[in-house]
Amino acid sequence: MKAFRFVRPSNGREAADLLASTKNALVHAGGVDLLDRMKERVDEPDVLVSLCDAKGLDQIRVEEDGGIWIGARVTLAQLADEATCRRFLPTLSEAAGLAASPQLRHRATVGGNLAQHTRCGYYRHASFPCLKRGGDSCPVRAEGGVQDTAGIFGNRDCASAHPSSLAPVFGSLDAEIVVRDAKGERLVPFAGFWANPAKGRASDTRLRPGEVIEGVRIPPRDTKQFVGYAEIRQKKAFDWALVSCAVRYETDGEKVTSASVWFGSLAPVPMRSVAAEEALVGTVCSDKSAAEAGARTMASATPLAGSKYKVALGKVALKRALAAARERA
Ligand SMILES: Cc1cc2nc3c(=O)[nH]c(=O)nc-3n(C[C@H](O)[C@H](O)[C@H](O)COP(=O)(O)OP(=O)(O)OC[C@H]3O[C@@H](n4cnc5c(N)ncnc54)[C@H](O)[C@@H]3O)c2cc1C
Ligand code: SF4
Repeated sequence: MKAFRFVRPSNGREAADLLASTKNALVHAGGVDLLDRMKERVDEPDVLVSLCDAKGLDQIRVEEDGGIWIGARVTLAQLADEATCRRFLPTLSEAAGLAASPQLRHRATVGGNLAQHTRCGYYRHASFPCLKRGGDSCPVRAEGGVQDTAGIFGNRDCASAHPSSLAPVFGSLDAEIVVRDAKGERLVPFAGFWANPAKGRASDTRLRPGEVIEGVRIPPRDTKQFVGYAEIRQKKAFDWALVSCAVRYETDGEKVTSASVWFGSLAPVPMRSVAAEEALVGTVCSDKSAAEAGARTMASATPLAGSKYKVALGKVALKRALAAARERA
């Protein structure tokens, strides 16, 4: 690993100022993702602007209007364990509690989870070519490429699969990302936070140079919400989900009046399924309507030979997430 300087600003504003005035600096939070990349020399920053002492970013709180604020430095363990999150955002608690391993959950933060880079094995080794790292092609798509964790949507140029299992939950809850740079703060709607892969674009987000995520805001709801989360993974710990799915819907007492369906690990960025949402609205939520929503989602999938199995897995995850929402009601 290349030598670097480690600076510890005391709040988000100071962090943004430091990023604006420092060349070749990166934000550091828990370091779970970033230090791996640095050890592999995929990233070689001169300075790490660490949020480890940044005040106010480690809290989960209910705001005056009933919305919920989650600071960027909140850990996955906090999301899984703290009463506010368990009570008001049960699907987020669940997703966080299933991720990684107990040790990692105590280091990994919300901001880092959203801004983490792809786990694609070719991306993470500087010796392989990779479109995201500025190469001309994607070795996953080439004959003989390792495709078992590859995405099945939006994979024409880069077949990576977005690793965050918190992201589909935030998507389903219409979260907003609070971002700060040296000039001030801006609110980014969840769907607008993501950037599709392009040559030389390593990040999957639209964060601009010098920007820090300060937190995530979940808007208040005044009607009853049905929420569910499901994921499928090979190992119960120290692993990533092969597919994850988060749903939220409302009913008129019987039929679904609006729905939000998001998947993780199926595309290079978290994926909303409008097809599934349209299939669910007007139905009484059941395994039958879930199967139709899954079929409509997967009708446009473009799996590679090694990732075809994710088509079936995605349908199962959606069915389980909707069943979990019905059971919780
Ligand atoms: C074995 C293993 C299993 C895992 N399983 C799962 C899983 O099941 N589900 C899942 O969701 N994740 C999983 N992860 C990923 C893990 O949750 C993330 O790596 C972690 O959340 C990153 O958070 P961090 O605070 O350590 O980020 P860091 O490593 O510090 O940073 C990650 C990236 O985000 C940027 N960054 C960090 N914070 C900010 C901020 N506030 N503003 C702007 N940029 C920022 C950094 O510059 C860096 O590029 C797993 C990781 C491992 C090693
Ligand atoms: S799937 Fe994407 S990240 Fe992986 S090698 Fe191909 S271009 Fe790079």
